[in-house]
Amino acid sequence: MNADLLIHSAAQLCVIPGHAGGPQRGPRLGDLGLIADGAIAVAEGRIVAVGPSAEMRSQVTAKAEMDAAGRVVTPGFVDPHTHVVWAGDRAGEFELRLSGATYMQIMTTGGGIMSTVRATRAASLEQLMAETRPRLDRMLAHGTTTVEAKTGYGLTLGDELKQLEAIAHLNATHPIDLVPTFLAAHAVPDEFHEQPDAYVDLIVEEMLPAVARERLHRTPLFCDVFCEEGAFTLAQSRRILERAKALGFGLKIHADEFATLGGTALAVELGATSADHLVCTPPQEIALLGRSDTIAVALPGTPFGLGQSGYTPARALLEAGAALALATDCNPGTCWCESMPFILALACRALRLTPAQALAAATINAAYAVGLGDRIGSLEVGKQADILIHDVPDYRHLSYRFGTNPVAVVIKRGLVV
Ligand SMILES: [Zn+2]
Repeated sequence: MNADLLIHSAAQLCVIPGHAGGPQRGPRLGDLGLIADGAIAVAEGRIVAVGPSAEMRSQVTAKAEMDAAGRVVTPGFVDPHTHVVWAGDRAGEFELRLSGATYMQIMTTGGGIMSTVRATRAASLEQLMAETRPRLDRMLAHGTTTVEAKTGYGLTLGDELKQLEAIAHLNATHPIDLVPTFLAAHAVPDEFHEQPDAYVDLIVEEMLPAVARERLHRTPLFCDVFCEEGAFTLAQSRRILERAKALGFGLKIHADEFATLGGTALAVELGATSADHLVCTPPQEIALLGRSDTIAVALPGTPFGLGQSGYTPARALLEAGAALALATDCNPGTCWCESMPFILALACRALRLTPAQALAAATINAAYAVGLGDRIGSLEVGKQADILIHDVPDYRHLSYRFGTNPVAVVIKRGLVV
């Protein structure tokens, strides 16, 4: 067999396969498909073979070889929930929170999301991309090869389209693949403060059809709603998501971060691709999620970033049979975290995941959370060659250690980046 690149002599090659053409569900999460002294062959940006090094070196003729030299090889991380496209920062708000103000207090006094909205509206497309690009560079350096990116700091049609344009342009020019999500329902903008339903009308009647028409993006294109006290009610969330579904958007929801409004049950009912946060999801909705195809996305960086002690009940979700994924939630207010390895380390401690579960939740299951489980997220033959070499001797070190970057080499579509 001919290949462009053969990576060999990995102490452990973690294939992390999908199960029956889907994510790794419930207690079966953590199937790494480990190959000791493993090798992987790539041709034209795709994976063409995986197996033990001795076998692969005798069977594969490669234009280039790379010695993984006793290190660990995994799929690239998929970060399935971020707000990475923004302008400005909220360091002052961080300091306020440390002195006792809550996230919701800050939000209702015009801080929080609205302060980033003002900065993002004021930024040109070029400025917005110039501020976002270094964040993507750091994500890539920490092993993220695909990232979901939400709008939601524009909150007018023009400013939301500007964010979508930034996502499309960055996707075309940066090695990271960006998956766009339309999140005009991130906050009710100040100008609609007295009449939030009129803003929902605007989203449903004007913004969603306009975004669907723009076709700036390849599929998938998602629509998301922040279903939360102080943001959007369950009824408003339903209106927006039902209209989005009718227009062909994939669906996501921010549910149960601070209050329980029924957003998780709504996600299951509407066949959403993912339900995210799930910090205070009640047992009956955990059971619903466990029987559904909706991926449960945990964002442990957010309670950590807020200095809170309540985390997603990951073990209960797994016991219910849910497919669990991990993401950074990278955003300027609650969690400016660009590192999936940090999220793995945190998930093992705060969510009680095993290192293998955290790794599978950040790769194959995260790929399903952005509708790309058939293309990325594992080192199975036929998938896009998004591959990491970590400078550790055993995959458990990826969660065991924290605060430094374990990623030594990032390969995107077969090329070292
Ligand atoms: Zn979010």
